[in-house]
Amino acid sequence: MSTDGRLVDTHAHLDDEAFDGDRSGVVERAVESGVSVVLSVGVDLASSRRAVEMSTEHPSVEAAIGIHPSHADVFLQEWAGIQTLLTTGHVRAIGEIGLDYFRCRVSAAVQRRAFRAQLATASEVDLPVVVHDREAHEDVLEDLEEFRPRGVLHCFSGGMRMAERAIELGMFVSVAGNITYPKSSSLRDVIRELPEPSLLAETDAPFLSPRRTRGRRNEPANVRDVVEEMARLRQVSFDQAASSTSRNAARLFRWS
Ligand SMILES: [Zn+2]
Repeated sequence: MSTDGRLVDTHAHLDDEAFDGDRSGVVERAVESGVSVVLSVGVDLASSRRAVEMSTEHPSVEAAIGIHPSHADVFLQEWAGIQTLLTTGHVRAIGEIGLDYFRCRVSAAVQRRAFRAQLATASEVDLPVVVHDREAHEDVLEDLEEFRPRGVLHCFSGGMRMAERAIELGMFVSVAGNITYPKSSSLRDVIRELPEPSLLAETDAPFLSPRRTRGRRNEPANVRDVVEEMARLRQVSFDQAASSTSRNAARLFRWS
């Protein structure tokens, strides 16, 4: 498949209630805007199920399943269901998993157990991981170092050193719409410098609308804004940024 000028949104929550009124329209709009794949990412069992369902309903939707750190308190109840979904053959990644020490409703210890169990499973079943890291850089790196998964740090928020260490471990770094915000200048500095084969683009829709549509619901079509900003920062053409991020996503998630 030629990926010239095509876009991939490697992280959207298509199951989110923000899309209840027009979910299929949102996917169609993304396709019309040049998005060839949207990875819909689960945060708990119900949303993981929806991601798998949508991947069977829409040819341009792929599924990631997992328990997000803010739902890690239900990990023990829901994990068996996630493992059953893994056997459907429709799953491209385990995620969204990780650690969030910013708004820690669930204790760090409980989050960490769930994260480590899911990293272990990802290695067993040879799937990449989609990692959420909020103010937990050191613990996330420690666990990645131990389990050595293939995967991506989604909505990257660390500094240069964190990015370099993650890339050394074979991880990808994914950029979301926050890169377009005025206050994100240190993030822009990091994204300017990183090696092209390690970069991905995402929306994290319905959250994190890029500057152009800020205050409104975000959707996968807006991954174009993220790639435009990446191209501008890295002084390459839009087509080059689009095709390299799409190619990188295909390599990580093994679709073509
Ligand atoms: Zn997310």
